[in-house]
Amino acid sequence: TYVVTDNCIACKYTDCVEVCPVDCFYEGENTLVIHPDECIDCGVCEPECPADAIRPDTEADMEEWVEFNRKYSEIW
Ligand code: SF4
Repeated sequence: TYVVTDNCIACKYTDCVEVCPVDCFYEGENTLVIHPDECIDCGVCEPECPADAIRPDTEADMEEWVEFNRKYSEIW
């Protein structure tokens, strides 16, 4: 899965949402988030993010961000 990380805080761009083929972006409190079970790992959103906030969970220390994304995509 891809996850939204801290560079997204208070960001107003939604380029990532528009390109996602499965609509798995949700609105968190002050970031967007990606539902980790709905993301199909296509990677299309990553280069669209002007803040470089979207990272693959295969990078180091992403567990907390996966949980953050899960929490806020299931809250509403
Ligand atoms: Fe959507 Fe693909 Fe980004 Fe996952 S990697 S959030 S499926 S655009």
